[in-house]
Amino acid sequence: MNLPAAFAERMQSRLSAEWAEFVKALGESPRTTIRLHPEKGKGLYADAPGIPWHDRGRLLRERPEFALEPAWHAGAYYVQEASSMSVRVFLPGRRPLRIIDLSAAPGGKSTLLLDEIGLTGGILIANDPDSRRRSALIENLARWAIPAYLITGRDPAWWAEKYPEAFDVVLLDAPCSGEGLWRKTPALAETWRPEEVHFCSRRQRRLLAAAKNLIAPGGRLIYSTCTFAPEENEYNLAAFFSEDPSWSPIRWENHPPEIVEITYAGRGWGYYFYPHRTIGEGFFISAWQKDSSFNPRRRSSSSLRPVKRPPLPLEGPFVFFQQGDSLMMLTEAAYKLLPPGLEKIEAFPVWRHHKPTHAAALLPDLITEELPSYELSEEEFYTYLRRQPLSVPTSEPYVRAVYADFPIGWLYKNRPSIPRSYLPT
Ligand code: SAM
Repeated sequence: MNLPAAFAERMQSRLSAEWAEFVKALGESPRTTIRLHPEKGKGLYADAPGIPWHDRGRLLRERPEFALEPAWHAGAYYVQEASSMSVRVFLPGRRPLRIIDLSAAPGGKSTLLLDEIGLTGGILIANDPDSRRRSALIENLARWAIPAYLITGRDPAWWAEKYPEAFDVVLLDAPCSGEGLWRKTPALAETWRPEEVHFCSRRQRRLLAAAKNLIAPGGRLIYSTCTFAPEENEYNLAAFFSEDPSWSPIRWENHPPEIVEITYAGRGWGYYFYPHRTIGEGFFISAWQKDSSFNPRRRSSSSLRPVKRPPLPLEGPFVFFQQGDSLMMLTEAAYKLLPPGLEKIEAFPVWRHHKPTHAAALLPDLITEELPSYELSEEEFYTYLRRQPLSVPTSEPYVRAVYADFPIGWLYKNRPSIPRSYLPT
């Protein structure tokens, strides 16, 4: 890989004796890692090595053809590079939490946050202003099927103006120059310019200002990027926190030694993941907590009117409401924490046009025995993925298609229900 001169100069002086190893690592292929779903992923890849900072992270020996794996279709794991899984370390222990992920698409860190929230632990707003990337977010969160989230597409400044101090955790996984992704996408190195680092840094400062405003007393800001540029990382954070006595830095106690801890602004802690030292790709993460006691203000007055449950064997603490032609669902815990004044929301879609949605088939809480279901053969599984008709001996309007013990969708009157967007391209 041809490294840009200005980048090489900066990194060489930072890494000194480790520079050659770093360059060598950039020439290797990235590792394939996944994070298991807390329910649907139980027991999967049990023999694969783990990730030191996430107990459901797994390092795969080779990269499977994910789009042909029933477990992938069932949302039993998320393909996520390992460094990103460290977000979990910086979350507070208490629950319930109101969390906003300001730059959420395609949803890797949002699915991780949903694991932590579960059915009773709070609400996640997964936000991303890029509508194209938001489509992947919508699909990935539906497949993950922990219905404690809303998806929005606002600029963080909109949120900060309308909902100041409304969140216990704000994750800003900021758009960045992407220096840490070069071995995954070598073309990024070709287009890298020092000016881009400065452009990204300015944009990040604008987003950081919004993120800081959104945090409730006692709440935390988690900031991450996939770049090594200090202008986009510690210099940015220092500008916001070095002279603000009402914030305290969060330290990752006993972090694995391969992760490099830095200090900045005299008191902040930041963590660099370098590809020659860790399993993951290049990454930076740092967190701050707003002082003063935890604010227990919890109940909001949502104007969304709940409607009847759909006719599915769905046990659990859920609330349903109509949006357009879909019935959406939220956990009761998330419903109680909905930011007030949001009229139209995009949440987990469970029912549409008198039928369950594709996402509903992937809910871990559906009781399989009560549902008409059909075990596909291997050949039928591939027919299903090709969206071709299958002849199933049933008079039901829909049956749940199961393959290798994983529910992977519905068959509506012998037609696979799987949307085209869920399929390999
Ligand atoms: N958090 C994601 C995950 O774990 O899958 C990855 C996020 S990616 C590093 C950065 C995201 O920032 C992109 O999805 C991009 O659309 C979004 N973005 C771009 N401009 C933005 C803005 N002004 N405000 C918030 N997010 C923005």
